[in-house]
Amino acid sequence: MNSGALKVVKFGGSSLADAEHFIQVKSIIEADPSRRYVVPSAPGKRTATDTKVTDMLYKCYQMAAEGEDFSDEFSKTEERYNLIIDGLGLDLNLSNEFAAIKNAFTLHAGSDYAASRGEYLNGIILAKLLGYDFMDAAKVIKFTETGAFDPEKTNIILSDRLTRHERAVIPGFYGSMPNGTIKTFSRGGSDITGSIVARAVTATLYENWTDVSGFLMSDPRIVENPCPIKTITYRELRELSYMGAGVLHEDAIFPVRFAGIPINIRNTNDPSAPGTMILPSAPANSNESIVTGIAGKKGFSVITIEKDQMNAEVGFGRKVLEVIEKEGVTFEHMPSGIDTMCVIVSSNMTEKQKKNIFGGISLACEPDTLHMEDGLALIAVVGRGMVSAKGTAARVFTAVSNADINIKMIDQGSSEISIILGVDEWDFEKALKAIYYEFVK
Ligand code: ASP
Repeated sequence: MNSGALKVVKFGGSSLADAEHFIQVKSIIEADPSRRYVVPSAPGKRTATDTKVTDMLYKCYQMAAEGEDFSDEFSKTEERYNLIIDGLGLDLNLSNEFAAIKNAFTLHAGSDYAASRGEYLNGIILAKLLGYDFMDAAKVIKFTETGAFDPEKTNIILSDRLTRHERAVIPGFYGSMPNGTIKTFSRGGSDITGSIVARAVTATLYENWTDVSGFLMSDPRIVENPCPIKTITYRELRELSYMGAGVLHEDAIFPVRFAGIPINIRNTNDPSAPGTMILPSAPANSNESIVTGIAGKKGFSVITIEKDQMNAEVGFGRKVLEVIEKEGVTFEHMPSGIDTMCVIVSSNMTEKQKKNIFGGISLACEPDTLHMEDGLALIAVVGRGMVSAKGTAARVFTAVSNADINIKMIDQGSSEISIILGVDEWDFEKALKAIYYEFVK
């Protein structure tokens, strides 16, 4: 072991779904004494048709909130934990915890409280199994009165508390508001807790253990057996995850990125695989490929505005964006020409929002033509190597055009780590494959 190393390890729900997985997790943690702080998720699915404990708890709570008898449903959750405890042969009885939770459900403690119990109970079991201290996340992960995560307050409290614990288990996914009410992050939020803990202890590495061996260059549902990504920078990952390349919660990047701590995505079922390393910046001697990953998603609309001498009109862009802002709609991209401007927004708008945006732009900007078209898919080709490799854009466009696909929009940020293109939704899969095979032979 590297003597200066200090690792925070987070295990996802599939890594803690049953007693066998707990044993695997224990051996991973014990294989490296620098793995001192552990963040567990709630038990996930054991088979494809199984239900995650978090979903079971949401369901139970809904029944409780509607005044229905939720006892049978709740005992299924109890059974999941008791199976794990018995399978591990632990001297641990959670019946008091179960009774307290049931009681709180009856008193309508809130669905965030309900969901958080999945991680809470799993944390108690894991701490017992490892012989680590248990630290309730409600005491150290803080949210504001409005329910927003409070990073600075959390960091002060958490780093102080953790200095007093050599080794600890901190359940993922939740924290508390100033009045003590339990608040969760959005789904998959244990990734965020792991990142927050890593920042608080200034970890040398944040290991995120899941059920895949890291990130793949593209979506395996579209490209057959895509290559794994060995190293990726935070910025590249941000671009790819925004476009739908899941595995890690989008917001998990911020706390560690802020502190310059790398994240290593690892596979609990294949611990010897190196996984993907997410780094603050690319290592100087890395043998970079031009493209790191290709991701994309469907469901965008383009608003196209044309007006003669638009470029000479001061404040034109502001007026357009103001109308969109007033409808509470965020814009994704804004490619523009001399006399045209396109604004790409998610198609996920109400009819009323669409109508108001259309009417608002007509009134504020008096365009020559204005139209809105749905059915656009965006594809992001991301890679730090693109900055120095000439002709990358040409290769992307040639690959797409050779596949007989019309490119409807192009956007390349000046940072040059990504090229975004828009195609019709029905061309999405074909375009993604064409680009992948252009760069991966
Ligand atoms: N258990 C929560 C969920 O299913 C949080 C997590 O697993 O990270 O979303």
